[in-house]
This record gives sequence, C-alpha cells and structure tokens, in this order.
Amino acid sequence: MRDPNCIFCKIIDGKIPAVKVLETPEFLAFMDIGPLAEGHVLLIPAGHYETIDQMPAELAGAMLAQLPRLVRGVRAATLCQGVNILQNNGAVAHQEVMHVHFHIIPRKAGDAFRFNWPAGKYPHGRIEEIAEAIRQKLD
Ligand code: AMP
Ligand code: ZN
Repeated sequence: MRDPNCIFCKIIDGKIPAVKVLETPEFLAFMDIGPLAEGHVLLIPAGHYETIDQMPAELAGAMLAQLPRLVRGVRAATLCQGVNILQNNGAVAHQEVMHVHFHIIPRKAGDAFRFNWPAGKYPHGRIEEIAEAIRQKLD
C-alpha cells in the first residue's frame, strides 16, 4: 500500500535514497535530512497511512515496539542526555510529510530546540465535560 506521490513511500520503494538505520518488512528508520539535532531519526511504517488514527491498532503497537531499541541506539551513539519522541498529525500540527512518522530527537542541555507549551486552565466543569465527550466518541 503506497502513495506514488509520497516521498516516504518512495524511500520505502528505494526510488529515492535515505540513510537507513533499521529496516524490517513493516518499518523503516532513517536519518532526518533536516535534523533538529545530530542523530535525529524518523521511524515510519512501510505502508502509507497519513496519520496515526488511520493505522490498524496492531500495526501502531508494533511500530511503538521499535522505539525502545531505536532510542537506545540514538542515545548511545549521540551521548545525548534526553530524547523527545514527536509525532505530528495534520498540517495544523506541523505535519509536512503526510505519511505517519515518529521523530526521535536527541536532546542535550542548552540545545536550540524549544517547545512553545502554553499550558492553560479549564473553567469549572469543563474538564469532566470534554473527557465525557471523548469517552463517548471512542470507537
Ligand atoms: P513533519 O513536519 O513531522 O512532517 O516532519 C517531516 C520530516 O521529514 C522533517 O523533519 C524533514 O526534515 C524530514 N524529511 C523530509 N524529506 C526527507 C527525506 N527525503 N529524507 C529524510 N528526511 C526527510
Ligand atoms: Zn507514503
């Protein structure tokens, strides 16, 4: 299952090059060409899914199962002090390549990567209301 116009599908099919780190029949991890830090790796499924909610649960679980080993490799190779796992869904959430991917981003004290994390507050009763709406929508 590939999208012929998708850059990550082309990488899976070997039509464009990538610096690979780990390859299985179902997943590929390769170096991000625009790294936020040295050792920034992307993990993708071989099949084309745009966003995480479109993936079969078992496949998403198997994808997550690759992360501990990958993160150990990134940590040991980069000697970083921490790692962010980032997974963007939708253009509004800064997804530029519409093929599911996890970013594995090595972090060091004083590095340049910043989150804008404008933590808010719920008005009275709203937290229960929105939680109930989510529970009702779980399929
Ligand atoms: P996102 O903004 O979450 O969609 O991230 C897409 C990521 O893919 C960016 O960090 C890009 O640097 C990276 N990227 C785009 N094209 C390639 C490519 N051909 N090889 C490796 N990384 C890529
Ligand atoms: Zn794709």
